Amino acid sequence: MDRNPAVEPDDVPGGDAREAVRRFFAPDGPLARALGPSFEPRPEQRVMAEAVLAALQTDHLALIEAGTGTGKSLAYLVPAALYDGRTVISTFTRHLQDQLATKDVPLVERALGRPLEAIVMKGMANYLCRRRLDAYLRSAAVPAEHDPRLAALLAWSRETQTGDRAELPWLRDDDPLWREVQSGADVRLGSRCPHFDHCFVTQLRRRAAKARLIIVNHHLFFADLAVPDESPSRVLPAWDAVVFDEAHELEDAAAGFFGARVSSRRVELLRADAARRLQSLGLGGRSGTSGDRRAALDRLDEAVRDVGRLGERLAELAGGPAEGEGAGRRAPLGEALTAEEIGALYRAADDALERVERQLRTLGEGDDELALLAVRCAALRNDLAEVMEGDDEAHVTWIEPPRARSLPPGPVPGSGRRKRRGRGGAAEEEVRLPPGLVLGRTPLDIASLLQERLYARGGPVVFTSATLADHRGFGFVRRRFGLPADALELRLASPFDFERQALLYVPDDLPEPGESGYREALLARTAALLEQTGGGALLLYTSFRNQRWMAEALRALGWEDLLVQGEAPRHVLLERLRAERDAVLLATASFWQGVDVAGDALRLVVIDKLPFDVPDDPLVRARIERIRRQGGQPFGEYQVPVATLALRQGFGRLIRSRRDRGIVAILDVRLHRRRYGRAFLEALPKCAEARTLEQVDTWWRGTPPGRDEV
Ligand code: SF4
Repeated sequence: MDRNPAVEPDDVPGGDAREAVRRFFAPDGPLARALGPSFEPRPEQRVMAEAVLAALQTDHLALIEAGTGTGKSLAYLVPAALYDGRTVISTFTRHLQDQLATKDVPLVERALGRPLEAIVMKGMANYLCRRRLDAYLRSAAVPAEHDPRLAALLAWSRETQTGDRAELPWLRDDDPLWREVQSGADVRLGSRCPHFDHCFVTQLRRRAAKARLIIVNHHLFFADLAVPDESPSRVLPAWDAVVFDEAHELEDAAAGFFGARVSSRRVELLRADAARRLQSLGLGGRSGTSGDRRAALDRLDEAVRDVGRLGERLAELAGGPAEGEGAGRRAPLGEALTAEEIGALYRAADDALERVERQLRTLGEGDDELALLAVRCAALRNDLAEVMEGDDEAHVTWIEPPRARSLPPGPVPGSGRRKRRGRGGAAEEEVRLPPGLVLGRTPLDIASLLQERLYARGGPVVFTSATLADHRGFGFVRRRFGLPADALELRLASPFDFERQALLYVPDDLPEPGESGYREALLARTAALLEQTGGGALLLYTSFRNQRWMAEALRALGWEDLLVQGEAPRHVLLERLRAERDAVLLATASFWQGVDVAGDALRLVVIDKLPFDVPDDPLVRARIERIRRQGGQPFGEYQVPVATLALRQGFGRLIRSRRDRGIVAILDVRLHRRRYGRAFLEALPKCAEARTLEQVDTWWRGTPPGRDEV
């Protein structure tokens, strides 16, 4: 690609980029002027920015851990603006992507006095496909004038400039209506599509081809990297450098795209698209259709039904609970089914898919859309064949059974209707349609894949996060990412004064997790801590079961107005935690990271126990067994480092600004009693420590820092 001229701060006309970075963050520099009185000099931020610039200018790989409050995003946006090439910035969460697009990029642009030429690209499924919308309108059972949701979608499609579903607040995350009209790598027809020039995805790609900064998420980045350079499924234009923020989440996001997966939803979508296209070609009904075509249609119907029946049979054999704890949990395919069952089902499924493909080709002669459907079917067969290669030294094959869940129709746009099942139930806005049955084959580690597909390209790659190191440093993550010896390393402490701002409470008088009386003791200790701080708390759990049990138990003790994950959408829970000074939020999984509640509203974080990965997850188990086979110690080499990074993320929820003060309680006595406990404690920021509630009380009653001390 052509390289664009570097954008340079006004202060250093023609000056060298390193000096420009220093000036940008200086107390009298462009950032200070743009921020005015709210500017705080952050030496760590400037050091990080210089390191990112060095990596970009010397084509190096770099690993940079920067503690909470460093201001990482500006520390890579500014060097990227000064870099002589196109940079992709990849995040894990949508929250960070939004923050970059709406806050950080505009701030840097204001400070520099010129545009960064940045663009946000989401996964293709976020954009409307005009061709599929047309097909859906033609085949919809209820016409748009009698279907308010379809009418709203249609009206929006005529006005929107982006086709981005985020503009539709009434559309649930996994609304079935959207699935019928979304774009996607396998539904795009490319330049043969009649809507190609006005297609939202085409326009997005054209804008991206002119941008210097492209903001994506890890899923889109690796989906793109996993397909060959020349593939029409690629959406990113050529780029020169990549910065991964939230890089601690990179491994699992990448592994998902370097493997293969087949889902019953994919088959259903193929069937629905085929039926719609046949109908629009006047081939849907039997009457008036020629004998050959009628026979081909019959064979297609039969083959599609066979695929469906095989999926049901597979789900039946795989078993597992359809509801409750453990529902839909992945299991190793080889344990769920015998080799004979797998072989027989695979042969039957491949045969049925081959018949679907053949009939689509027969019916689709001269029709691009049916031809594309045949190609999709062939890709499905390929992926199924890859999954069926089974486990080997480097891969694990798994099955995820469907969950039994009903999906009510979405709300009518503008009606403001929000259903809730009541206490203990899931709000309907949160309900996601499961992808049904999923079969997958995932690589056990991505080190060699990153080396072949990413590092071998030769450009700079920066990995950054607040948590990349365990108590021994970067060794673990270097191995997992397959980084060469000359990769740059930088570890920057948080600018926050944890010794003054935070108390780490780890009791030594509770039963261990799993011992009798543990839950009850956890409840009593949690309630005592909530009394101490008067709420303002985030209670983090390692399983939904523990979270649910604790919510019920606390309510029974009189803590009635709890915020509980699953009872309202995430953003609503977080808004209430911020707004209601004494709120208590119980959550698991995704709330261990990306929660940013500064100030007095969050003054207590309680962690129920050390967040070891679930050992029966097929990928975790296969990684553990592989290390063991290679003569290693999986607990110390893999399980403890992974749990350490997760614990550091959970801990990091508490102190979000220099004015925050509060308690992190980890109610797991193994931190004191087991040898590995020290590894966790040493990886946490140094802060005041307590083992008893009396010590907590003394610290809590200590004079809170006055504003002038801050
Ligand atoms: S070009 Fe592809 S995504 Fe765009 S409208 Fe056509 S089929 Fe849909």
